Amino acid sequence: MSKGTPSFGKHNKKHTHIRCGRCGKQSFNRKQKVCVACGFGRTGKMNC
Ligand SMILES: [Zn+2]
Repeated sequence: MSKGTPSFGKHNKKHTHIRCGRCGKQSFNRKQKVCVACGFGRTGKMNC
């Protein structure tokens, strides 16, 4: 029974990207708190 798609490794993960409050795309990274599409979250925060 190893036919088909064997890559079920990341199948049960939660959404890494949620809907962005600025651009509305589902590109807001929950972990990094940064939208990869418009860059929302990077502003007003110093990366230190
Ligand atoms: Zn965005």
